[in-house]
Amino acid sequence: MFRRTASPSRLTPGIATALIAASVLTGCAQAAQPTQPPAVASATPAAPAATEPTTAGATPSTPAPTGFAALFPEGAKVELLFDNVGFTEGPLWLPDGRLIFSRMSDNIVAVVGDDGSLSDYLNPSNGANGHAFDWNGNILQAEHSGRVTRLEADGTVTVLAESFEGKRLNSPNDLVVRSDGTVFFTDPTFGLNGRENEIGFQGVYRLDPATQTLTALIRDLPMPNGIGLSPDESTLYVSDTTLAQVFAFPLNADGTVGERRALGPGIDGLLVDSEGRIWSSAPDGVHVLTPDGEDLGLIALSQGATNVGLGGADGRRLFITTSTGLYAIDTLVVEAAPGH
Ligand code: MG
Repeated sequence: MFRRTASPSRLTPGIATALIAASVLTGCAQAAQPTQPPAVASATPAAPAATEPTTAGATPSTPAPTGFAALFPEGAKVELLFDNVGFTEGPLWLPDGRLIFSRMSDNIVAVVGDDGSLSDYLNPSNGANGHAFDWNGNILQAEHSGRVTRLEADGTVTVLAESFEGKRLNSPNDLVVRSDGTVFFTDPTFGLNGRENEIGFQGVYRLDPATQTLTALIRDLPMPNGIGLSPDESTLYVSDTTLAQVFAFPLNADGTVGERRALGPGIDGLLVDSEGRIWSSAPDGVHVLTPDGEDLGLIALSQGATNVGLGGADGRRLFITTSTGLYAIDTLVVEAAPGH
């Protein structure tokens, strides 16, 4: 089940930099300006620097970045790590310093070693798409086969959910795990592959970890996809591919969700950082949204983003999956609940 193969198409950093020359970071207030230089740009005009008392002859210090630019170290660039690996999804940083991601086109979960090599982690993967850790350190998978599964340390695959009210799930796409172990996942139809939509809607579900009871929380989104939780777990975020929006749903004490609120661009995977910002996959790259719906800025890509995950030794490196590759950029943020 865990089989290693030769690396198909790793790019050297130099080549990668050349190939992503068009990829830039832009504050959204300036994104429409074609002359925007390829550098971290603030979404809003920088506040005037405070006048500080200086001694004669001293050089005034450079004002610290604010807004969107403050989310990245100076000089941060988008790097293309792998190209020609098909449609990728589900990036998840492992505690041992490796990164797994789903190579959807090849039915493989791939792993990037700590030496940068690419090999297979799970082959075949049964259509594994999104990944998240449960709170016991196991990897959970949303599978296009119609299941949500848990990968045990010995390679055993345990099915957590595969049907709702006796009908087969469509094609679970992505998932998030609350601190009490509750799993929330989306179930659009992208992976039906000719199968009938038995349930008749594209739901967002809550899976109770103790009873394995499945509850359909949301039934009226046309194509729910990415999913995440606010740091205080009071809000569930869901992106919908058809509506191309991220929506915020208040999570009620009785387990239901309240009325949805549109936040901003989003068609696929998302994550929430420790300050509550939502990093959202979109056709033009990754947007960073506030819980109030302000679009702080864009990590521009030449192809649509499909999912995001934070990792690296300090948890601040953002990995971005796309329609053909895997990208990364260093940030100054960490995930609210890393890997969950
Ligand atoms: Mg997805």
